[in-house]
Amino acid sequence: MTDLHDMIGELTRSHRHREVYTTDPIHGTRWTRFHNTRVPSLLAQLEAASPSGEGGARGGAGFESRPAARVEALDVLVTIDREASRWVRMLGQDDPGYTDRCLTLLASLLPQVVRCDLPRGRGTCCTWHMVEHDVRSWWTQARIVTGWDTPAWRPDVTCPNCTTRGSLRIRLEERCGMCVECRDSWDPSSYQVLADHVRTESMAKLGQRSEPCGCPLPRPWTDLAVLCPKCGNASCHRATTVLQLVAVDILEGATSGLLVERYGLTRATAVRLIQQVRYQEAS
Ligand SMILES: [Zn+2]
Ligand SMILES: [Zn+2]
Ligand SMILES: [Zn+2]
Ligand SMILES: [Zn+2]
Repeated sequence: MTDLHDMIGELTRSHRHREVYTTDPIHGTRWTRFHNTRVPSLLAQLEAASPSGEGGARGGAGFESRPAARVEALDVLVTIDREASRWVRMLGQDDPGYTDRCLTLLASLLPQVVRCDLPRGRGTCCTWHMVEHDVRSWWTQARIVTGWDTPAWRPDVTCPNCTTRGSLRIRLEERCGMCVECRDSWDPSSYQVLADHVRTESMAKLGQRSEPCGCPLPRPWTDLAVLCPKCGNASCHRATTVLQLVAVDILEGATSGLLVERYGLTRATAVRLIQQVRYQEAS
């Protein structure tokens, strides 16, 4: 688990970032490469991605057509600013007026904060663990909404906390997720709750097999590997629900071999299909 000071460091300062590239050039062969890049602070990335940020000038694909993603970046920035300011004032200091300074000040106040003996906090055990819980939530949310080229996955399920449909944003490789409605978040230590939830809802939806899917005509999209078993349509809700199950397997670390065995899909193909589903929903 990432340490509290490291999380504040990544939020406020430019840092080295290890990116994982997974390619699948020839059927089923998985190449994993690591690439170290220097990235701006997460707060700077949130600002750039927000509607008024410099992101609009970049002209790249993706964000231009996804204004919702820009609003989500701004929402996270505003949330961090408000909650960090609240902590600083609760600890007896004045809000310095800038989000990054607020976070740095919060980090400097931590040594004086009451901390219990538990290695991991539980609920409201102590002030230090309550701060840690909030910082981890900010850090998780910021990392989810700042991905430029690979937007987070948006499954067509409800949030396990607030039950809003379509509000979850999940990073499959990083194993973290958040809800853009209630701002609950899950990190690599708690992602299994999310995985189980998405799987249960997807299975329940697939379970109603006797019902017709309502698609007008079989219209197979030859490029796509997952088709509805009833109408043969790749864009049928049954096919996209199967893809949700594939995504949950990827979230749980399934290898390409396992995905080929279960669904006849390599990992790279599966990831591409999952992204297409998201774009269809987002447009
Ligand atoms: Zn990073
Ligand atoms: Zn505690
Ligand atoms: Zn929620
Ligand atoms: Zn169908």
